[in-house]
Parts: sequence; C-alpha cells; structure tokens
Amino acid sequence: MALMTKEEYIESLRKMNPTVYMFGEKVTNVVDNPRLRAGIESTGATYEIAQLEEYRDLVVTESPLINEPVNRFTLPPASIEDLVARVKINRKLGNYVGTCHQRCTGLDCLSTLSIVTYDIDQNYGTGYHHNFTEFLKYVQKNDLTCNAGVTDVKGDRSLGPSKQEDKDMYLRVVERREDGIVVRGAKAHQTGSLSSHEVIVLPTRALREEDKDYALAFAIPTDTPGLVHVVGRSTLDMREIDGCDVGNVRYSKYCPTLIFDDVFVPNERIFLNGETEFAADMVVRFSSFHRQSHGGCKSGKIDCMVGTALLAMDYNGTAKASHLKQKVIDMIHRAETLYGCSLAASYEGKKEASGTYFIDTVMANASKIHEGKEMAEAIRMMVDVCGGFVADLPSDRDLENPEVGPLIKKYMQGASGVDVDKRIKLFRLAEKLALESADTVSDIHGGGSPEAHRVTIMRETDLDSKKRAVKRLAGISD
Ligand SMILES: Cc1cc2nc3c(=O)[nH]c(=O)nc-3n(C[C@H](O)[C@H](O)[C@H](O)COP(=O)(O)OP(=O)(O)OC[C@H]3O[C@@H](n4cnc5c(N)ncnc54)[C@H](O)[C@@H]3O)c2cc1C
Repeated sequence: MALMTKEEYIESLRKMNPTVYMFGEKVTNVVDNPRLRAGIESTGATYEIAQLEEYRDLVVTESPLINEPVNRFTLPPASIEDLVARVKINRKLGNYVGTCHQRCTGLDCLSTLSIVTYDIDQNYGTGYHHNFTEFLKYVQKNDLTCNAGVTDVKGDRSLGPSKQEDKDMYLRVVERREDGIVVRGAKAHQTGSLSSHEVIVLPTRALREEDKDYALAFAIPTDTPGLVHVVGRSTLDMREIDGCDVGNVRYSKYCPTLIFDDVFVPNERIFLNGETEFAADMVVRFSSFHRQSHGGCKSGKIDCMVGTALLAMDYNGTAKASHLKQKVIDMIHRAETLYGCSLAASYEGKKEASGTYFIDTVMANASKIHEGKEMAEAIRMMVDVCGGFVADLPSDRDLENPEVGPLIKKYMQGASGVDVDKRIKLFRLAEKLALESADTVSDIHGGGSPEAHRVTIMRETDLDSKKRAVKRLAGISD
C-alpha cells in the first residue's frame, strides 16, 4: 500500500494512542475531537487530492526507492522537476484548505536527512544513511505523514545548550544504551504533531563540541511512550469545539508543544548522534527547504484572500470601485512574486552528493522575508475591501435566534439580490483567514524568525563576486 485514501489516513491515526493534553484535560480520542479533527482534515487533503483526477499527475509519482507510486510528500527531490512540484502542490493545497496543510515540514525533514546523513557517513563511516533509507522506505510504503521536531524551547536565548541552567532546554541524550538512546527535552510549535504518524527530530541550531549530547536527529512514532503533546491555545479554537462561527467550515491548524519525557529511541532510527559539526548543515538545509515550501502554500492562501475580496465586492455592491480593484491587483502581485521566488529557488536547485536536489538557499530565504511582510499586507488589503464585519459579525447563534435573528438578517443585507447568508459566511471566512493565529504567526516565525532568514542570506550570498563586478566597472584594480 503506497497510497492511502483520506479515509484510510484518518483510520490509521485512529489506531494510534498518543498522550495528549488540551485546555487542562487529557484527550483520548484525537481523531473525533473537533479542534484536532479540523487540523487532521487539512492534512487529509494531501491524501484526498492524490486521488483526484485534477491533481493526481502533480501529486503522485514513482519512487525510485520502492518502485511504486507515492505521494510526493514522502519523496525527497531527485530532480529540478521534483523541486518545482513541491511548490506547485503547496500552492494548490494552500488554495484548497485556506490554512496550513501541515504535511510539508515532514517532507522538508526527509529531504534534509537524505542529503546530510550521506555526508556524515562519508566523513565518519557511520550508518546513518542506511538508517534513514530504511525509514524512508517505511514512510513511502505506508504513505505516512511526519512532523518536524526542530524548534527547541531554548530557555535563555543568550546561552548555548550546555550553558543553560536547566540542561533540558534543548533536547538531549540522558542515557546511552546498547540498543539505543534515551532523550529528554521539549520541542515547541509542533505543527500537526497529532496529524502525523512519526515525528522527525533535527537540531535547532549550530552546535559546539561541548554540545555533543544535543547533536541529535531521529524519528519515532508520535505515540511513543514518554512523548506528551500539549495542544496550544490559538485565537479561534473554541469555535471548532463549540461547532459554531468557525469560518473555514472544514480546515484548521494547531501546533502542540511536544515534551520528550525520557523517551527511548532505537539505534536503527538514529540519523545523527554527537557529530556536532553537522548540526548547522541540518538546520540550514531544513529551514531553506521549509522557507521554499512556504512560498507555495502562502501564495495559495493569498489566492483565497483574493477570492474573498472579490466576492466581498460583489456582495457589498462595491465591485466597480477602482480603489478596491487596485487592492485586488496588489494582492495578486504579492501572491505571484512570492510564488515566483519560491519557484526560482527550485529552478536554481543543484544535485548534492547523495543524489538529492537542494534548492537555492538565498532565493528561498528571500521568499520567506517577502512572505513575512507581504502576507500582512495581503491581510490588510482583504480586510480593507471586506469592511468591519470581519471583526465583529454577530454569532450564528444570534442569527438562529427567533427574536433577534430576522432583525440581524435584515440589517446584514448588502448588494441587492445577494443572499444575506452568503455574505455572512464570507465575512466569517475572512475573519478566519486574517486572524487564525496558528497560521498567521507562522508567516513571520515559521521556518525561523526573520533575522534567521537575513543571516542566511548574508552568509550564503557570494558577496565577493558583487565587489569584483563593481571593481571591473569602476576600473579599480587590486
Ligand atoms: C505557527 C508556527 C508553526 C511552527 N511550526 C513549527 C514546526 O512544525 N516545527 C518546528 O520545529 N518549529 C515550528 N515553528 C517554530 C519556529 O521555527 C520558531 O517559532 C522560530 O524559529 C522562532 O523561535 P522562537 O519561537 O523560539 O522565538 P525566539 O527564538 O525566542 O525569537 C524571538 C525573537 O528573538 C530573536 N532572538 C532569539 N534568540 C536570539 C539571540 N540569541 N540573539 C539575538 N536575537 C535573538 C529572534 O530573532 C526573534 O526576533 C513554528 C512556529 C510558529 C509560530
């Protein structure tokens, strides 16, 4: 079985037994919890579109590893075409779910490990690439979703891992056994950890020799004993639990904190264990892949905002207003520049020693900086076009109330001939697109904070070639 249907995917999660806390209570049925189910539905869309005629050719391809058709979310890129497909699929999905589909981070980890485990083995004669390849075969054969356990909680940001007062602020080995290691720590903002079968852990920063116990990469099932998922609070989450005023009727995002309370990792699932000098490479590769992924899905989300703005103009009676048309144009050009930058990072990709392709880092990071600013601009323009009801629309419960409901509907009318219920639904979606904190904050911090993008650009750009070009033009000789 190399491809699951959406229903099979959901049933596969039902068979798992993770330890989960949410809003002070233990959750025993993840799949039927409405808050978590909305996130699972988003990831479910990556399975659903693989079965749809319209998307199948883009999403499904043959894996050279298992010689079977696989969903591209389990395929490290082995060509420019694969790199480009990542971006195109993400855009389609951003458009399809209007939020984060949560499956890209796992692919970004797989792509990173496919490059770096090979390089470590070349240096040290370790067996990490073999471990990784076996894991990848398992993921592909079973069409699994993985989440990215990258961001440590980090304690005092001015101190490195081994200098922290509490040594568990970065995930570390606390026991070494014959058959594996025991790890302790916590990873924050774990997008879709309960929509995933496996968590792939990578280091969060460059490490020094003294940080050996923190130089770790591995994969374990998300219901491994000792793993605790604590689902975070986000702006609109009670709407899903109440089943009311949700805006996006099906899809959502959630990002638990994942605590590793002395968790055993078997040797065969370890991909880095103490080789500190490779931590930085893992971080740069993962974050660059992830910043490229964002360029696809976030341009797809702007597509949703453009559609919302256009419908709002129809429903409000402002379709002819030229300043609103200008705003729609400004939103579209932001989506296209973001998409273009992410595509360009793919077209400029290069083959690495392992055979896996890596994107152009500078362009991927430029794309992410662009996203951080321009998503906020797109939201601002959508809200401008829609009007103030994005903020304080009466609840569906009031609309259903026999006394006040008809009055609200009377005063919620827009352009003549437009069904008032449609206008109300659209404003609620606009609210979700603008204010779903679990998604909008990721425009800024997802894949690393903006300064991390800048530092990477400065480090990875060939600055000398720019100086040389100018010296030649100016006639300066050394
Ligand atoms: C919605 C969302 C989803 C996410 N999904 C995932 C996920 O699936 N997996 C995952 O692993 N991570 C995920 N992340 C985590 C993301 O990568 C981090 O939020 C990001 O790297 C910033 O880390 P932080 O939140 O700890 O903030 P901090 O590191 O505390 O950064 C806050 C600010 O302080 C600055 N700063 C921090 N340290 C220093 C220093 N030493 N010197 C100078 N300035 C400093 C930063 O530049 C930034 O401006 C997600 C984040 C969000 C918001």
